[in-house]
Amino acid sequence: MKKLELHWKILIGMVAGILFGFVMSSFSWGYDFILNWIAPFGTIFIRLLRLIAIPLILVSLVKGVSDLKDISTFKNIGIRTIVLYIITTCIAITTGLVLVNIVKPGAGLSAETIEELTVTYAGDNTITSNIEQAEFQEMSKPLDFLVDIVPDNIFGAMSNNQLMLQVIFFSILFGISMLLVDSEKTKPLSKLFDSLNHVILKMVNIIMMIAPYAVFALLAQIIVSSDDSEILLKLLNYATTVIAGLFIMISIYLIILYLFTGRKPSWIIKGIAPAQLLAFSTSSSAATLPVTIERVTNKLGVDHEVSSFVLPVGATINMDGTSLYQAVAAVFIAQALHIPLDFMDQLTIVLTALLASIGSAAVPGAGMIMLVIVLESIGIPSDKMAIGLALIFAVDRPLDMCRTVVNITGDTLVSVLVANSIGKMHDPEKGLEVDKSYLS
Ligand code: ASP
Repeated sequence: MKKLELHWKILIGMVAGILFGFVMSSFSWGYDFILNWIAPFGTIFIRLLRLIAIPLILVSLVKGVSDLKDISTFKNIGIRTIVLYIITTCIAITTGLVLVNIVKPGAGLSAETIEELTVTYAGDNTITSNIEQAEFQEMSKPLDFLVDIVPDNIFGAMSNNQLMLQVIFFSILFGISMLLVDSEKTKPLSKLFDSLNHVILKMVNIIMMIAPYAVFALLAQIIVSSDDSEILLKLLNYATTVIAGLFIMISIYLIILYLFTGRKPSWIIKGIAPAQLLAFSTSSSAATLPVTIERVTNKLGVDHEVSSFVLPVGATINMDGTSLYQAVAAVFIAQALHIPLDFMDQLTIVLTALLASIGSAAVPGAGMIMLVIVLESIGIPSDKMAIGLALIFAVDRPLDMCRTVVNITGDTLVSVLVANSIGKMHDPEKGLEVDKSYLS
């Protein structure tokens, strides 16, 4: 077991957890047993990852930005990152829209099935609270999202994992200020952040040692608390459409990677497999972030300057899997409820899914909350919206697990592309700089 690579250990943990969950479901005491004695270990692991997330973002971003040669390098990386994030998200939404319009999974649902699924979930609190949360966000003024990025108290921002963008803002501002102050004066600070960075990455390594056991606990818990599979079967067409879209998206990433860097698919997949498996098990890009940064920097050889900026920003604003899912889900709901959508509606979906995925927090289930905004933009009335959300609710968790994998893979691809385009790829084995030809 010792010699096995981490991603194999995690994979074994996942499969064992799934099997264990199924076995336990057949005992009447199985659910309680898993919830009382197994699940807490998964929770501890997620807590550890979230514990490390804020210090990691702060330290690695300050270090990343302050290590840059000058402000223009920062602008260069920043602009490339944002442009690539928008392009990949638009590709994802278009992929989802094309697929759902071809497959039409909603058209296949009979009226009785819709009725049955809706009755099962109509009274569920999660659905009403989803709608309320999204409406609350919508009631705000148009520029509130900008205001929300700026913290008025850094300790307030750091004490809430939902406010990651505020911590990112502070760290970038701090890093830029360090860059602008005479380097003699910032030397002690640079040393401090450099050393903190090493220590925090070591903490990530230590936490990852329990990952295989933690994913066992997480998946056993998911299996034992999942709803009956009959409902899942009824939504099979919809779920398959989303999953097919996510697979297409991964293939598009691999093609882009090959075209722009000449790297083979196995290179990226091998490099970030543990992060992908964690994204699947935790359904949270934020919780996975420490591992994504560690793998992208140490295994893929993306310079820390790039990975420490591109990945934390990506975890919060670049969600290709989520935006694809939101596009498919919105059209699926319209199809199932016989609400016709014209070309303009589909264009509206592209725009709102782009904004909704940027606005989705990097935590489980966030994509479904923001879906409400997409549904509202195409004029789905609120009573029908509750039915729509009730329809897709049963399969949301497994789809969340899959879309989170795509979310972090998209961030990784962009960090590789950015690093490659400015000559910041290293050979992780030898610590040498390669791809100098791309230096502009
Ligand atoms: N769980 C997703 C993430 O953390 C967001 C979502 O689609 O719900 O990336």
